[in-house]
Amino acid sequence: SGRDVARRVADLTLDVPDFPQPGIMFKDLTPLFASGPDFAATVDTIVAHYGRDTFDVVAGIEARGFMIAAAVAYATGVGVVPVRKVGKLPRQTLRQTYALEYGEATLELHADAFMNGQRVLVVDDVLATGGTAEATLNLVEQAGGVVAGFTVLLELAFLKGRERLKPRSVHALLTV
Ligand code: AMP
Repeated sequence: SGRDVARRVADLTLDVPDFPQPGIMFKDLTPLFASGPDFAATVDTIVAHYGRDTFDVVAGIEARGFMIAAAVAYATGVGVVPVRKVGKLPRQTLRQTYALEYGEATLELHADAFMNGQRVLVVDDVLATGGTAEATLNLVEQAGGVVAGFTVLLELAFLKGRERLKPRSVHALLTV
């Protein structure tokens, strides 16, 4: 069930203090990714939450979002699109620069990534301030996609990312 998966996400997340810089409590989900049954249950829970017929393609945010997005896409028989850090995509891109919990960043999406009106499920590992998600959802919409949902494994509620993303809805397997 969703509650069991939330428990597994909690149990398989390691808190790493002061990474990548002082004051940041980094949520390391590599133990969850490394556990076959728990990763499968995580992907299945995301698919069950949205249903197979609510999106046409999955977009993953570099880099940990790629792993989840690819699995959700494979499980549902749709394609996967990368939202990448600046300078990695080879063709014409759309670009968004935004402030991070630590530093600033620029994300890119191929300008022709979506057919007009395609429903896009956007996936990442952690929702913190929401800057990354906000930039990504803007890119998806600029590219002609329709955001079908934004889902993360772990939401850090104290950073209020969910409020920043309003009125778009956010799904998190676990909120701490
Ligand atoms: P934000 O834009 O602040 O919501 O940050 C979200 C992005 O940065 C996601 O791609 C996360 O992977 C990463 N991130 C931010 N804060 C953390 C954290 N405390 N632990 C792990 N990942 C984080």
